Amino acid sequence: MDSPRYTRDYAAGEDIFRQGDAGDEAFIIEQGRVAIWSIGTSGEREAVAELGPGEVFGEMALVNRKPRAAGASAREPTRLRAISRAHLQQRLDASDPLLRLVLGTVMARLRATLGDTPSPPSRDRQPDDAQDALRALQQEHAISAGLDDGEFRLHFQPVLRLSDRAPVGYEALARWEHDGRLVPPPEFIPVTERSDLAIRFGRWVGATAVAGFAALDDAAYVSINVSVRQFGDAMVLDQIADALAERCIPTARMRLEVTETHLLTQWDSAIAWLDRARAIGMGIMLDDFGTGYSSLAYLHRLPLTALKIDRSFVATMLSDPASAKILRTITLLARDLDVDCIAEGIESDAQADALVDLGVAYGQGFLFGRPAPLTG
Ligand code: C2E
Ligand code: CA
Ligand code: CA
Repeated sequence: MDSPRYTRDYAAGEDIFRQGDAGDEAFIIEQGRVAIWSIGTSGEREAVAELGPGEVFGEMALVNRKPRAAGASAREPTRLRAISRAHLQQRLDASDPLLRLVLGTVMARLRATLGDTPSPPSRDRQPDDAQDALRALQQEHAISAGLDDGEFRLHFQPVLRLSDRAPVGYEALARWEHDGRLVPPPEFIPVTERSDLAIRFGRWVGATAVAGFAALDDAAYVSINVSVRQFGDAMVLDQIADALAERCIPTARMRLEVTETHLLTQWDSAIAWLDRARAIGMGIMLDDFGTGYSSLAYLHRLPLTALKIDRSFVATMLSDPASAKILRTITLLARDLDVDCIAEGIESDAQADALVDLGVAYGQGFLFGRPAPLTG
């Protein structure tokens, strides 16, 4: 049951607010119908509109502090959810800087047009909004131009079978040669994820990774990292599959790396996308494993082929017994799920040997090779 704190219920005919009332909330209709009315010249209520579920009314109260220009009553038993000015402000504050700047400006203009002098002073626009929005746009434009101008590269880091240290695959990691330096992914991936730039970038990664197979041994796989927005891009999977087919490379040699956080933000579309990738034969690896919720319930529902153990466990496994325990548990879990287990961030022989003892079959890290351009 919903707490009555969050919902408002009205009987048929009951007034929600009257014209002239003070108010600082808008409403979304959850169930029922609402009549909007104004007082006509005759002094009678005249119908302005009738609204149903999903529609919003009273929204001017979020913009100005003038009395309600119209009234609203329930036409039938009606349930509403209120949107307060403070709540909207919090959402706006947490939103994309560009959205904040544009919406904040529109709201301030509207308020000025309506001759409203808010008290306390309005905070639609944060002092830094303009700077933040400008910087965000500059970054997006620079990345977009960088894609046009060929400034991006894929570096490849080998993944080895730990028992004999033979390379079995390569992880593709993006690099951006920009303004005379090699920009690492944490500086530009989040920027791409604010818009469909992520889709364009993801397609570039897919195509470039496929081209990389030409320089690799026959059996080696290539894994690419995937971002949340790509779950909405079914086309990228077909493009990769077509490019592989053209070169007579089995789709199974392409693997996709997704993180738990990504999955949890877009569960339904992620599952559909991953199922499709799996159906056309690609492998799927759960990246940074162990840092999120790692719930068994959902792991069983994922079409996985491998777990990649986050490097934080490898970094501390020799000094912290808790990390070693977690590592062992993950290897058991991988066995239970019938998927491969890959340890990330191996920097020393001692770590590699200890991982073999724990039953981890594959590994990657600076010990075996840093991410580097392919040669050959
Ligand atoms: P990740 O997928 O967890 O990639 C592994 C990161 O660990 C890489 O950082 C790699 O250079 C680094 N690494 C590998 N071995 C070692 C080691 O032994 N020690 C240490 N300290 N680090 C090691 P990088 O290349 O800076 O990438 C950072 C993150 O950016 C990646 O984390 C991945 O989430 C993301 N990323 C990279 N390329 C792409 C891409 O093409 N698309 C998307 N969506 N994300 C990408
Ligand atoms: Ca990865
Ligand atoms: Ca990782």
